[in-house]
Amino acid sequence: MVKGLFLNGEEKTTNHTYPLYHPHTEEKIADITEGAKEDMEEAIALADRTFLEMKAMTSKERADILFEAADRLLEKQEEAAQIISKEASKPINAARGEVNRTIQTLRFSAEEAKRLNGEYLPLDAAEGGGGRDAFTIHEPLGVIGAITPFNFPLNLTTHKVGPAVAAGNTVVIKPAEQTPLSSIFLAEILTQSGLPKGAIAVIPGDGPTLGEVMNQDERVKKISFTGSPEVGKLIKSKAGLKRVTLELGSNSAMYVDESCADQLDEIAGKAAAGAFAYNGQVCLSTQRIYVHDSLFESFKQAFAEKAKNIKFGDPSEESTVVSSLINKKSQQRVLGWIAEAKANGAEVLTGGEGKANGVLPTVLSNVDRNEKISCNEVFGPVVLINKVANASEALELMNDSRYGLNAGLFSNNLRQAINMAHDLEVGQVLINDVPTLRFDHMPYGGVKDSGYGREGVKYAIEEMTELKMISINYKG
Ligand code: NAD
Repeated sequence: MVKGLFLNGEEKTTNHTYPLYHPHTEEKIADITEGAKEDMEEAIALADRTFLEMKAMTSKERADILFEAADRLLEKQEEAAQIISKEASKPINAARGEVNRTIQTLRFSAEEAKRLNGEYLPLDAAEGGGGRDAFTIHEPLGVIGAITPFNFPLNLTTHKVGPAVAAGNTVVIKPAEQTPLSSIFLAEILTQSGLPKGAIAVIPGDGPTLGEVMNQDERVKKISFTGSPEVGKLIKSKAGLKRVTLELGSNSAMYVDESCADQLDEIAGKAAAGAFAYNGQVCLSTQRIYVHDSLFESFKQAFAEKAKNIKFGDPSEESTVVSSLINKKSQQRVLGWIAEAKANGAEVLTGGEGKANGVLPTVLSNVDRNEKISCNEVFGPVVLINKVANASEALELMNDSRYGLNAGLFSNNLRQAINMAHDLEVGQVLINDVPTLRFDHMPYGGVKDSGYGREGVKYAIEEMTELKMISINYKG
């Protein structure tokens, strides 16, 4: 099967294709039409021309399109989950979860489309400002460039498209090379729901080539990027006056305090889910767990037991939780980092080996803070559990990272938890939850190398609109 680009409301095929393989079974899924520079330019030109039509729509019309898209996706939820599962090697139940969240993200976007509220400004508070009424409105920016990663190909794309449409923008998507089908599926559904042709395009292909065209084109008013810090920094360095939002990686940490002695089994269960969800390829995957000395041995045992029971397998099987990584290169990188840590004294409690194109759920302990497996983003099913003397040491280690996305802490000591929450260098702190948690309407983004700007539907809309002030002089 040859799958085309999505341009001007329909598929467009050319002679340039690349084969897309299932990361686990290695079967060919499709030949994907590879966008050339000219295709990206055409998509931007169309999106620019369609912008005035989008801007002229009422917020109710935009909300109706998004609500209808949510309903259509609900009808096709199994088809969408199968697409995600195949192209990303995502265990089918996790893929179904992603589709459910996407439906919710579309509905949040529809609701927010109707809440683009401005404010009244008392200009008479300034010397000479009397006799005027003033208010603000939020205007859409124009063409939004969305560059997306492979790990949540449907919901993370929707986190850019939903707010863009809600605000009255048009959008051109450059999906990850491995996962273009989910984005195309979303664009088809939105077009069937009444989004004008030209308001959305999907151009799969080479990141540096197509990203450069987006970045250079002045008609693109904002780039919303989710992916690795290296690419994010490159984009921002070249973006000039374009708006940029960057949602980047992390090596998320959590702390288990001594006040949680009677909850260890429950916390270990939640932490195992957070560490191994989608093969550990989640930007806020639980990677580093620090446990109070007094609970360390019991927690370690409880956690290792849970990890041993996690099933590795084909992503199409209902019972599979961990499957192959996105490619062999990732597998080799993760196994190399585990071997290095082991050689330097880390204890492997379970896993540590490759299987198919993936890595078995791996739990390490006694890992030095300078090991790659600790200070880099693993993006694989690997977690480390280390002992700390107290909450201060936990805080120091949690903050000892180039990243700062989510942090989790389990504590029944309210004062300690709130103090830590204030001192953690991250965008979001989850008290009595693992860091692997995101609700689609909450503000979400990182500090340090984890990002720049915020998503979460309402917050993404703020970054996709321009504030305009209008004043009326009714006296002079
Ligand atoms: P990646 O950075 O390799 O690729 C992301 C996208 O950027 C792809 O579409 C790719 O083609 C494109 N790209 C590559 N080079 C480019 C360039 N020079 N200019 C423009 N675009 C370019 O990331 P990935 O491997 O697909 O995803 C994994 C990363 O994404 C991890 O670091 C993960 O933590 C991060 N991520 C972050 C969040 C978040 O919300 N913070 C969510 C999901 C994933």
